[in-house]
Amino acid sequence: MNHIFRTSNSETAKYSARELAKYLTAITGSNTFAIECVTQLPKRDAGITLCLMQDAGIPTDVENTELDDAIFVDIKAGCGIIAGSNERAVLIGVYQFLTALGCRFLRPGDDGEILVRMPLNEMNVHLEHTASYRHRGVCIEGADSYENVVDMLHWLPKVGGNSYFAQFPTSYTFFNQWYSHKKNAFKQPEYFDREIGAEMTQNAAQEAKRAGLLYHAVGHGWTCGCLGIEGLNWEPQKIELNEDQKECVALVNGQRVLFGDIAVDTNLCYSSEKVRQRLTDFVVEYAKEHPEADYIHLWIADNFNNHCECERCQTMTPTDWYVSLIQLLDEKLTANKLPTRIVFLLYFELLWPPTSPVKLNTDRFTLMFAPFTRTFGQSYAECTQIPQTLPEFHRNQVKLPEKVDDYIGHLHAWQAVFDGDSFDYDYYLGCAHFGDPSYYKISQLISRDVKYLKEMGINGIISCQVMRAFFPNGLPNYTMMQTLWDDSIEFDALSDDYYSHLYGEDWKACKTYFKSLADCVDVAFWQVPPKGFRSEDVAVKALGMLEAADAFEPVVMENLGKYDNPTLNLSWDYLSYHLTYCRLYGRFVSAKASGDEMTANLYWSQFKDFVCENEDALQRVLDVYYLTHNAEYAKKYRKI
Ligand SMILES: [Zn+2]
Repeated sequence: MNHIFRTSNSETAKYSARELAKYLTAITGSNTFAIECVTQLPKRDAGITLCLMQDAGIPTDVENTELDDAIFVDIKAGCGIIAGSNERAVLIGVYQFLTALGCRFLRPGDDGEILVRMPLNEMNVHLEHTASYRHRGVCIEGADSYENVVDMLHWLPKVGGNSYFAQFPTSYTFFNQWYSHKKNAFKQPEYFDREIGAEMTQNAAQEAKRAGLLYHAVGHGWTCGCLGIEGLNWEPQKIELNEDQKECVALVNGQRVLFGDIAVDTNLCYSSEKVRQRLTDFVVEYAKEHPEADYIHLWIADNFNNHCECERCQTMTPTDWYVSLIQLLDEKLTANKLPTRIVFLLYFELLWPPTSPVKLNTDRFTLMFAPFTRTFGQSYAECTQIPQTLPEFHRNQVKLPEKVDDYIGHLHAWQAVFDGDSFDYDYYLGCAHFGDPSYYKISQLISRDVKYLKEMGINGIISCQVMRAFFPNGLPNYTMMQTLWDDSIEFDALSDDYYSHLYGEDWKACKTYFKSLADCVDVAFWQVPPKGFRSEDVAVKALGMLEAADAFEPVVMENLGKYDNPTLNLSWDYLSYHLTYCRLYGRFVSAKASGDEMTANLYWSQFKDFVCENEDALQRVLDVYYLTHNAEYAKKYRKI
């Protein structure tokens, strides 16, 4: 019998031990593992012990053992210790040990993994590492099945991730966008309602906690929620406000109404004492009822230039009111002995710092930098024109920055006021990635950005993204999590290692294909198209995608179905779809950028039909809803 000892009875400790037993059984091909819970550390040669570093007398250099992850792995001839600075880090340590043996976790799911085979007594691994950044996680967006979310939650710690953010009071809207299949005429809608959405959110939270992840909650929905209007999405609704609600919402252009009929987009009259008490009480109640929330995000309206113009609100800037509001919340949470951390955001009007010095409790607050309108043609590392002064603030006449330099200017101004914990809430895989079918260019950018975060004084990324961003592969997600875990990893070495495990012996041909595609794409064209979508350069370059697909097709045909290994087989299967995807996409973009609307519409229809028709085959890797929704609504592409 081979022993796996755990020194804790928590759900995460049980999960870590079972994961280790599961993988060692598969790797050794021997069903001889037994898990035992022990109160004292066994001898090093008695088996593998999972424990906290503190309990094993191993020093850690982390600032906060609850939040910061460090690992210590010392296995000789299949026996020894896997320790972490907290229970989540122990689980990460298990996966880092398996990775050091040669295993790879390339996509979520069993068929996204490559496992080695070796006997237990040949396992010798020594690792000591502290995560480069504290915050390493994703925030739900897109159209997701419950399984998509849980697959992602299980995958994150395998690649060094540690956080999950379930946006809104429940993730109803993201689940509903999948189960209703609204944008896909080839699929039948399934019954779905808010109660199911709430249950799925709760169950996913349990899974996240089981994997030890730091759990972030809510963000959108407080402002309307505290008035009794549930804000679960951005759908306009005709709601007649009662007198009490009317008094509370912002006065904009002489009216107190829901902004654009969208509840979560509506600001409140933040100078009103009634509003301040109600909103903060509402957050305190949520914190009491949701102990699973390690971080609660207190966001205001998801729109801008709609702040209250009443006389009292005009006496201070939106940020000044916001800061006084979160200070009140801090007092109330403290009075209720609630340790919940609160995330405040730099977004829209709140990008401008407070106008007078303030003291924010650094144990309570975490700064979230949200460069919502940034472009992805340029990395943070390439900023050379960071402004020293910000544009003057004018209520309801704000112009949002586009350049990354300008966003960093806002960040610097805030950092002069607040020197506590922070993370970047970024949007690489929200929709920008649809502009780069190679996934190579955006991965390179992610790597450069992550490596530069320390320079920016930022402690990690929570990635606002679709869960299904793995087509043709998971390189962007993988790069983000691995580089946040260890920012000394070079992109070339990381991508070579990734491709070689994902595609087997012909991986170099795959890399050539992705690099040639990367030369043909313009991420900014998809994200912020030029006027009239006209760009001769984009039109010419996009056709290169067809040539890249033609050149690569024989390699795909040779490898399709060649492997016994399901992970390799699936990887090549995805590439066979990707050839057609790139040809249709390249034709469409080229026609659109040439100004040939008729042809562009025809190609868009073909492209849309292709992704919709094949959604079942690509369900776990491509978010068809978000791709088509984003293109058709935000960018006015249309299907004829
Ligand atoms: Zn007001």
